[in-house]
Amino acid sequence: MATIIDGKSLAQKLRSEIKEEVYHYLNSGERPPHLAAILVGDDGASKTYVASKERDCDFVGFDSTVHRLPSDITENELLKLIESINSNEDIDGLIVQLPLPKHINSSVVTDSINPEIDVDGFHTINVGRLTKNEDTYISATPFGVIKMLEEYGIETKGKHCVVIGRSNIVGRPMSILMSRGGYPGESTVTICHRYTENLKSHTYVADIVIVAVGIPHFLKGDMVKEGAVVIDVGITRVDSDNNKGYKLVGDADFDSLLDKSSAITPVPGGVGPMTRYGLLYNTLKSYKRKLNL
Ligand code: NAD
Repeated sequence: MATIIDGKSLAQKLRSEIKEEVYHYLNSGERPPHLAAILVGDDGASKTYVASKERDCDFVGFDSTVHRLPSDITENELLKLIESINSNEDIDGLIVQLPLPKHINSSVVTDSINPEIDVDGFHTINVGRLTKNEDTYISATPFGVIKMLEEYGIETKGKHCVVIGRSNIVGRPMSILMSRGGYPGESTVTICHRYTENLKSHTYVADIVIVAVGIPHFLKGDMVKEGAVVIDVGITRVDSDNNKGYKLVGDADFDSLLDKSSAITPVPGGVGPMTRYGLLYNTLKSYKRKLNL
């Protein structure tokens, strides 16, 4: 039976540590850390994510500002708003919730954020720093996964890690982090994606499988070897007759993997809460850097 990696409790513990640290700064007369978020349009999942980020800020004692913009806002108007936030000395972190409407170029937008307050770590400069293993803001999800592996003491050195998914926000940075020097890292990494042939031949020889494809129950028990560590990044909303009308489902087929793996993250309660922690961590990092704390 696998160890169930409890991202929810771990994130709670780590959030409380941030809260204590902030309390200490406020008591010594400093201003609170401040995270600004921009939400364009009214996508349900994006609204939920931004609302939870606001709640997290509130819990740890950060100020937060959410700019809610209509979906027909022009790219230029959005860039102007980002420019004004970039020049506000009292803002420590700025995130633009993705996805953006099709008429707006996400790449231009993320690269318009001042890299020093780009706490999502999506700016090209921060991606470059990550690639060179330099100090940077590691984007929240890969950061959360790394922190989880560290806190659970999972061995990564010399291990074979298979990352399924190659997106800029999850799979790609995840693969870079797992192969970098230091702990967690030093793994031999294979990246699989939609054109990978015979996926099972890769996943079956992996010591660690990180799955981020967005297809419910994609990774089955018969695709991994006995004792593999399974990290499930996927979150898909599927209809449910509960009071919300939907439930969250991961990419890993938890039931068939539970007996096979040595450790596994559940959905919900695994990587998701750790991602939320990652954003708080990065915002605090920017704040401390700005105020020389
Ligand atoms: P994406 O759509 O950008 O990328 C999906 C990747 O999966 C692609 O690289 C694609 O090549 C690969 N893929 C698709 N079908 C495949 C197949 N049949 N075999 C192998 N690879 C295949 O998605 P993303 O933004 O990386 O997100 C992936 C999942 O992670 C989604 O469910 C998303 O909601 C979730 N997510 C969770 C968190 C979190 O906090 N837990 C954060 C970000 C994303």
